[in-house]
Formats: sequence, C-alpha cells, structure tokens
Amino acid sequence: MPEKTSLERVVDALSFRESDRVPAGPLVCGASRRVLGITYAQWAKKPELTAKSLIQAQKLLGFDGFLLLTDLSVECEAWGQKVDYPMESTPITMAFKGDPLIKTVEDYEKLEWVDAKKATRMKNSVQVASTVAKEKGKEVAIMGFVYGPAGVLSMMRTLEKMSLDLKRNPSAVKKALKVVNDVLLDYTVQQIEAGVHAIVLDVLFASRFIWSRPVYDEFEGQFCVKLSDECHKRNVPVILHNCGNATYFDTMTKWYNPLGISFHYLPDGISSLEELKEKWGKKVVLLGMMDNPNVLYMGDEDLVLRESKKQIDALAAGGGFLLCSGCEFPPNASLLNAKAMVDACKMYNPYKKT
Ligand SMILES: [Zn+2]
Repeated sequence: MPEKTSLERVVDALSFRESDRVPAGPLVCGASRRVLGITYAQWAKKPELTAKSLIQAQKLLGFDGFLLLTDLSVECEAWGQKVDYPMESTPITMAFKGDPLIKTVEDYEKLEWVDAKKATRMKNSVQVASTVAKEKGKEVAIMGFVYGPAGVLSMMRTLEKMSLDLKRNPSAVKKALKVVNDVLLDYTVQQIEAGVHAIVLDVLFASRFIWSRPVYDEFEGQFCVKLSDECHKRNVPVILHNCGNATYFDTMTKWYNPLGISFHYLPDGISSLEELKEKWGKKVVLLGMMDNPNVLYMGDEDLVLRESKKQIDALAAGGGFLLCSGCEFPPNASLLNAKAMVDACKMYNPYKKT
C-alpha cells in the first residue's frame, strides 16, 4: 500500500482510526525561521517569509501538520497595543514591559470593534494561512490559530491586573471581552475562508493555576463559545490548546465540544498517562504532550525518542492520538529534536500489522 499523506494520517487520528502510524506534530512555528535563515523579527512581520519558512521546515522535518501560530500578540495589535519584536525571540506585548493599552479600569470601556481585515498582524496571519493552504493544503493538515478573548485582553493589561479588575469592575471587563470576541469571530471566519482545515482555540485560562472554573465560565467561556459554535456551523473541527498546568478538560469540553485538545501537562484530577487515556481518550483526540523545557529544549534526540515511545505506548491504541509538543516547539531548540519526534512515530508504530 502506498504511504498515506500527512493529511490522511491526521484525519485518521482525528476520527479515532489507527492510521499507517501515529502522526507527528512538533508544532514548529517560530523555529521554522531557522530553516529559511531569517531573524525572528522578520519571520513575525513578513507573511510571505513566515509561509515560506513553515513550508521549508515541513519539507525538512516531515511533520504531519502545520500550526499557524505566530505569537500571542497578533490579535491585541489590532487595538493599538504596542508589541516588541526582539531579533531572536518571540514578539512580546509591551503590556508586559510596563506599557499596556488598558492603563486603568476605565480604559476597558474605550475598547471598540475593529476590522480584523485591516489590522496588520491578523491580516498577515490570514495571508500566511492562504499561502500555506494553497501550496500544501492537499497533503498536510493545516491548523489555524486564535487566542481566546480573555487571553487577548490580558495582552493589553496583564493577567495580574485583569484578574483584580474583574473583581473591582466586572461589567467593564465583560464589555471589553465582548468587543474582543466579536473581532476574534471575524478573524476565525477569515482563517477558515483562507483554507485552514481546523481552528485551534487557545483557552489558556481554563487551568487551576490561572482561574477557577466559575471565573473561567464567567470571563471567557460564555464569550468564546461563539467562536467554536461558528466553527461547528461551518463543519470545521475545533481543537483546543491549553499548555497550562492542571487544565479543566471537563470545563473546556462542556463549552466548546472540541474534537481534540492539545496540552502540555496532565489535566486537573488525572495522575498518569494511562488514566488520561482511560478517562478522556475516547471523548477527545489527545494532542500532546512532549515536555518543552525539559525534553525538547534541554534534551537530546535519545531523550526525545524515549519520551515519545512512552507516550505512544500509553496513548496511541485505537487512534485518537497525535504526538505533539506540549506547546509551540521551543523556537531556539535543536531542530533535530523536532525531527526525532517524527522519527519516533516511524520507529515505534503500534499500528503496524506484521
Ligand atoms: Zn501553549
């Protein structure tokens, strides 16, 4: 039998079918700039170079899916939040460096709807989606990316201040969340129309180390559900990303009915890979969970192979599993470690019929 395409392999995994092997998703985003040989600042600002880097990285490493994440400051730029572009690391909102757009509780009320089509960074991301979809959309899975409304708002305020504000003036925060979410809805639709196969929604705050479940429901779930509803209406799979500690798989699936969840750590209340597979492995597709700091960044190929095997052994049976990095592949880690994840999926193949 001819080898399956990456896209077919990912579709199998997302349909709980055992494919020709486990799909590999090292989530190479910013790291792709090093294949083309450009700086991070160029990669993040020039959509034609972003797309070219991603396509070259896939050709070099052979991973099965693109994640079209640039960084978490793409959306907030639309409202005029200043963003810093270091030459060789991830762009970062200036809110984290003392220059937030929302300076006082009153400023939430000033946030107005903006046209995602005219916002430079979102427009660029849609262009990347369109180029990658045209060039690789028939062979490789392409996942668009949207940061949830609470995350985006925190990029204009900081999480610490926003978490205080929602006690002091909840209605002002909610008013701003609605404005942000309406724009994110347009942005989601634009990515779908550009040809992505699925939308990855980053709902980081649904985690015990950030917000409680009721706070999450009130300050993100009730808004963000509109984004997943729109995807469902259009028959576009929703995959959640949450690389936080002790995430709320229950809360997240209740709100968004996702096909899969991309995660870094074991969810709240789960203590082993086996328990994870048993409790969640038939309800949602599991995309995870290679340890970014300790394995992909600090480790070598041998460690990556060993960890990959452990996860494939525990999670791959029956399909519904993609071996992914817990978050974006560390942008400055050795690319050999991304390749080792692909190699592991080829070497350790529980689906091979002999
Ligand atoms: Zn992440």
